Amino acid sequence: MPQVFSPARVAALTERERADYIAQRPRSAALAAGSGHLLSGVPMHWMRDWGTPFPLYIDHAQGAQCVDVDGHVYTDFCLGDTGAMFGHSPAPVAAAIAERAARGYSCMLPGADANWVGAHLAERFGLPVWQIATTATDANRFVLRWARGLSGRPVVVVFDGCYHGTVDDTLVRQDADGRTVARSGLVGQVADLGQYTRVVPFNDLAALHAALAPGDVACVLTEPALTNIGMVLPDEGFLAGVRQLTRQHGALLVIDETHTISTGYAGYSGQIGLEPDMLVLGKPIAGGLPAAVYGMSAEVAARAEALLASKPDGHSGMGTTLSANLFTLAAMRANLEQVMTRDAYALTTPRAARLADALRALFARHRLPWCVTQIGARCEFQFCPTPPRTGAEAEAAMDHALERLIHLSLLNQGVLITPFHNMMLVCPDTPETAITALVDGVEAVLEALRG
Ligand code: PMP
Repeated sequence: MPQVFSPARVAALTERERADYIAQRPRSAALAAGSGHLLSGVPMHWMRDWGTPFPLYIDHAQGAQCVDVDGHVYTDFCLGDTGAMFGHSPAPVAAAIAERAARGYSCMLPGADANWVGAHLAERFGLPVWQIATTATDANRFVLRWARGLSGRPVVVVFDGCYHGTVDDTLVRQDADGRTVARSGLVGQVADLGQYTRVVPFNDLAALHAALAPGDVACVLTEPALTNIGMVLPDEGFLAGVRQLTRQHGALLVIDETHTISTGYAGYSGQIGLEPDMLVLGKPIAGGLPAAVYGMSAEVAARAEALLASKPDGHSGMGTTLSANLFTLAAMRANLEQVMTRDAYALTTPRAARLADALRALFARHRLPWCVTQIGARCEFQFCPTPPRTGAEAEAAMDHALERLIHLSLLNQGVLITPFHNMMLVCPDTPETAITALVDGVEAVLEALRG
């Protein structure tokens, strides 16, 4: 990636923003100082990776806003990295949670909401049979198990640059020689992940064909667009090609819509009529409570029932105790029925388009070789002139030092965007003025960088 700004200037401005961050947040600083009984000082160690001098401690969040313990109000374009895609604490979900909380919620048995949720998901996504899990990570682990169990084939195919949660089989990359290797940084990795996972570049149907050709692939698991390595949109016809090749080679097509549900009411696959064999959706499905779902075609469901019938004893290796509890199902129903509606998408998509256009105009005005992509409520800017076509291209366009400066400066200006890349989500409560504030905030960084 050609560097537009001098690293020394980026570093100097970052120091200035860090000092400002520290000075403005005594309460967060005090909480960080008293966090010695948490590993790395946080309840999940990666919460330290936001690039702030110490974590930002949140007091409360509502709609498109969150408020830290020092009383600073932020417009939130991170939205819990999709968990709060429709805003924080949407009233119908909060009410359903409160109502269920007083009536018992963890019986390891279904309630009436489960049937409603199943029927709704079938109607919304066109897949007739569903299961509930607690996280998208878990749902992905389970679909891989189903795919292998149903096909008797060992290998899964994913695309380079993918992220499907902390599912071992998918924590892989393609190395310079085209081999599938474990992602760098994995802790405690023992198994050779390349043994049963094959990685191919996104938007490369020839490579996918070659990966499927041996006939040992249980499924291809992918997002419709890669959204965790910056954003990589599918070429025209790519996903149709994936669908055709998976059918041709007898592999299931599993679509992970956890992030791309930003696209529209039935996700990206619904929008283009993709017809996956299985579909996974986590994060926003119950308004941001830990919950996920996965659906399957009638054919897959029939095979799954037969497989279960053939194994009357033992453990399937799927499901966790607290999954699908009454609490989760009540929240999911309220969310699907009253929050994740067509009306919500009608608000967010045009607003995100305005954000994307305003950022494009900003970068053009500043003659920056940066691009902006958008799928529904989700926008991303990347430090490359045209949208990347593969995960490797997207990774090469990253500049973590510059990204951290922009994020920290925005935070100091009261705007939160998603860490680790440059993603911004718009929810139904995001005001137009917040979009202007975000774009002005980025412009302020650019002007400071130009000196
Ligand atoms: N699938 C995709 C596409 C994701 O982006 C993520 C998380 N970023 C997951 C699955 C896993 O979600 P969770 O961390 O909630 O398990």
